[in-house]
Amino acid sequence: MGLFDALFRSSEVLGIAEETLEFAIESSEAAHPDEYMGFLRGTEARELGLEQSGLVITDVLVVPGTESNSVSATVRTSQIPNDVKALGSVHSHPNGVLRPSGADLETFGRGSVHVIIGAPYRRSDWKAFDSQGRPTTLNVIDVELPDNDEFFDFTQADIDEDLS
Ligand SMILES: [Zn+2]
Repeated sequence: MGLFDALFRSSEVLGIAEETLEFAIESSEAAHPDEYMGFLRGTEARELGLEQSGLVITDVLVVPGTESNSVSATVRTSQIPNDVKALGSVHSHPNGVLRPSGADLETFGRGSVHVIIGAPYRRSDWKAFDSQGRPTTLNVIDVELPDNDEFFDFTQADIDEDLS
């Protein structure tokens, strides 16, 4: 790991919010037999009322323009907004194999945690891997997530402004 990476990984990933994991599993099942793919984003644990510093995965960002089929989901990197600080990725394996493929390993260098969800999409049908594709522990944290409107901080005024 280079210095650049070290600087940008100063926040430890404490785990994934239970609600976020369940959302990703449900989305994977809905996408079946196609592959589901998204990026993981986090929230400071203290903002969620936890008495620890670090990040909790609270968001799955599904990238527009993802070409999805049952073999692979290819993200066009030009579609990833610049301001997105992804902690890692999540994608599904409709064949149920909870192991990274060769192609997965090539993309895992970006981000520190990568979740693979497999058919039949039960609560236990997922595994987490590090950037090298080694199995890693990802805690599931039962935490209350902020409401969506608060979270994205949009108001009707913002929307009206965009339309004018
Ligand atoms: Zn894969």
